[in-house]
Amino acid sequence: LLGRGGMAAVYLAKEKGTGRSVALKLMDPGLGHDPKFIERFLHEARSCASLKHPNVVEVYAHGEQDGWYYLAGEYIDAGTVASLLKDIGECPPALAAELTAQLLAGLAHAHERGVIHRDLKPENLLLTAGGILKIADFGIARTVNQSKLTKTGMLVGTAGYMSPEQAKGLKVDARSDLYSVGVILYEALVGRVPFQAESLGGLMIAIATTDCPPVVRLRPRVG
Ligand code: ADP
Ligand code: MG
Repeated sequence: LLGRGGMAAVYLAKEKGTGRSVALKLMDPGLGHDPKFIERFLHEARSCASLKHPNVVEVYAHGEQDGWYYLAGEYIDAGTVASLLKDIGECPPALAAELTAQLLAGLAHAHERGVIHRDLKPENLLLTAGGILKIADFGIARTVNQSKLTKTGMLVGTAGYMSPEQAKGLKVDARSDLYSVGVILYEALVGRVPFQAESLGGLMIAIATTDCPPVVRLRPRVG
């Protein structure tokens, strides 16, 4: 088991024949009963399969077997940006800028092909031992309706990275992803996300209606 997200578990697996290591993402079995989920899962899996960029995790195959919906992709072995930020404590601005540049390069590739991520956050950004950032978990977020996300507690973990239009439940486009990139950069520099609140509702109101404290006020040393 490599990791668990809101609706899937990711395993390190070996491909028969070639013997190469792959990351095998198995969607939670309950989701397979929802026809809307299946339709959107396949739609998103296909659009992700069309992406090919050094800063995007490559998807080798996707499909369904015995009721299990899966994605098989490139195994990235050096953890996530979330674990990196936790390990190093204070992120040097130059490193934050470097990670952001790689994130934007991968995102530009996706946006040029009409793919919007919708769930950019440090847990979904993988790292290779050589320091290459790879965007993972593409677009799957929009395969599940919001009430289900709230029930599984996933929305709570993700809400801090949401754009105001997402928090308001409005239609989102590529700009919403760019907002999330800003939040990730802010968190890397400051050590916390720009908006915090006691409740999910409070957080969404804060995101949608208030300004966050400027980085320089919290971390004057950041240029
Ligand atoms: P979810 O949609 O449930 O959030 P993710 O695709 O984000 O699932 O995967 C959950 C976790 O599994 C990630 O945060 C990461 O730790 C790990 N993981 C996902 N994909 C890979 C991969 N290709 N290589 C290595 N680890 C991965
Ligand atoms: Mg994830």
